[in-house]
Amino acid sequence: MSRKFYITTPIYYVNARPHIGHAYTTIACDTIARRQRMLSAETFFLTGTDEHGQKIERAAQAAGKTPQQYADEISAEFRKLWQRMGISNDDFIRTTEERHKKRVQELFRKMRDNGFIYKGTYTGQYCVSDELYVDGAQPGDPCPTCGRITETVHEENYFFKLSAFQDQLLQLYANPEFIRPETRRNEVISFVRSGLRDQSISRSTFTWGIPVPNDPKHVIYVWFDALANYITAIGYGSSHAGAQEAFKKFWPADVQMIGKEIVRFHCVYWPAFLLAAGLPVPKAIVAHGWLLFEESKMSKSRGNIVRTETILDVLGADALRYFLLREVVFGQDGSFSFDALVQRYNSDLANGLGNLASRTLTMINRYFKGEVPYPSKAASRKPADDAIVELARKTIHEYGSFFDQFQFSRALETAWALVAAVDKYIVENEPWALGEKQDEDSRSRLGTVLYTSAEALRIVTALAHPVMPEATAKIWRQMGLGDIKKVALNELAWGQLHLGTKLGEVQPVFPRADKSAIERMQKMEEQGRGPVVEEVNVATAPAKVEPAAPAVPAPIVDGGKISIDDFAKIELRVGLVKVAERVPKADKLLRLEIDIGTEVRQILAGIAEAYAPETLVGRKVVIVANLAPRKLRGLESNGMIVAASLEGGRPVLASFLEDVPVGARLK
Ligand SMILES: [Zn+2]
Repeated sequence: MSRKFYITTPIYYVNARPHIGHAYTTIACDTIARRQRMLSAETFFLTGTDEHGQKIERAAQAAGKTPQQYADEISAEFRKLWQRMGISNDDFIRTTEERHKKRVQELFRKMRDNGFIYKGTYTGQYCVSDELYVDGAQPGDPCPTCGRITETVHEENYFFKLSAFQDQLLQLYANPEFIRPETRRNEVISFVRSGLRDQSISRSTFTWGIPVPNDPKHVIYVWFDALANYITAIGYGSSHAGAQEAFKKFWPADVQMIGKEIVRFHCVYWPAFLLAAGLPVPKAIVAHGWLLFEESKMSKSRGNIVRTETILDVLGADALRYFLLREVVFGQDGSFSFDALVQRYNSDLANGLGNLASRTLTMINRYFKGEVPYPSKAASRKPADDAIVELARKTIHEYGSFFDQFQFSRALETAWALVAAVDKYIVENEPWALGEKQDEDSRSRLGTVLYTSAEALRIVTALAHPVMPEATAKIWRQMGLGDIKKVALNELAWGQLHLGTKLGEVQPVFPRADKSAIERMQKMEEQGRGPVVEEVNVATAPAKVEPAAPAVPAPIVDGGKISIDDFAKIELRVGLVKVAERVPKADKLLRLEIDIGTEVRQILAGIAEAYAPETLVGRKVVIVANLAPRKLRGLESNGMIVAASLEGGRPVLASFLEDVPVGARLK
């Protein structure tokens, strides 16, 4: 019986159109799934969309649509994009599908029957944007995740006895493979050690969700509903025999990939739900970092989210897939810029793999009529030939072990070190010079050099196939090797390239990108930004969560002056004061809610002695929008108001003589 392998992406919340952060998670999973298939595992790769919750209900209302219409549209965008990106998912689950709803209710019933769900009353704070209960917060407190003011919820709820699972969870975490990387594992352990409170898992004040079985006044909490997708999609809770069998075969998941902002849901709640239902927990939960856009976090409110379509149009899916996996050290935050993308594309793909393929295959065409030549007999081999063989063997091994540790970047680095070595080998052995000579020694030497190059090319191509499925399939066909999907990676070894293999038609695979590629992408991004769909949600979107990037201390250049670039790092914007109130027991502080065009920020300012709160509402002010959030008197301040500081410390707010639009940037 063959080994099975089940891998999942988080399901993406449909309040935001797909962007490159979603693409990153999905590409990583796709690559793993493809490699597993090439390792002969019976693989199931799941992705999908998370479509319920108060946030979607409200967003749909605002857009004048039903929640279902709203969800249909965005979910379709994800599916369309994944297809364009060559994502090989075996299923796409939508949480509004009947199969999912019924099975979620089954799970709820099971946990209730097992005594882990009870009815109670919840009074507390809730962040709608994150669909998150904020434990210990007071009315008016900001959400610790996104900084928005939480809403007070007082309702009868169903509760999950999370507190009963502390010890069992800690036992799970003792296995270092369960949560990766280590930093995330440590965070989760200390969170659980600090004590777990029972968790509300239903809502009764809106309707866009799955009804609680036998109590349809309540809908199931969107996170419960969403997490369950990992088992409902493969048949949990179905009465159908085939579905039950599939569930038995594939669960527990081998890898559940997530973004680091949803670690708590996946590493605490999710395994606890499973334990409560008497089900096995996943084998590994792997959290990746965020993708930063030229050093600042990508977020809709900053308008620096990159749409994947732009890159697909200009450089193609393989370039994007390679770049993200090569450039980002897995588990850590990585940065994205069009410059870096094009540079990487040219150096590694156009000049690297692409050039190796075209020069090697072109010379085989020219000197050996398009048939893979014989390497020469042992006597005339040179140490350089054997060095390549040795390096290729080592590469196959190391690439695999890095890959299995999710170290995609290092795996690719290893493979591209082989590309570089073969390039150097070709230059040093001058096959073009050998090709001009007709004597037997030169012919034999030429055969060896070209066979060695072609065989190394074949190995790199096979290894890179899960990362760049399209381009590697082309190279494979050009080498006359047929269908690359049929390669069994566990059997990949030096010397499998048959002598006399007839090459296919040789064509460039990665045409060089010039400077205009960057300009084209930037222009497309500027023109192509669709209407903002609310805001990217933290719930399941990988590349989000606000806290503004820490302000970078400006390096002092010369005589205490800073460069224009340093100044440009400070984001000054026009804001409109919507709410102003005193902070209890703090004489100098005002709590302000300031509209900066893309969002409303809570900012605390020490101006209470100079300004009465009521005089500020409706006034336009200048704020530093990218200052790291900080806490004052237990409240988060997300930005700073610019004021002149007069003698005695009296502040005078900066203002404008002419009318300026809210959100305008000061430069
Ligand atoms: Zn929030």
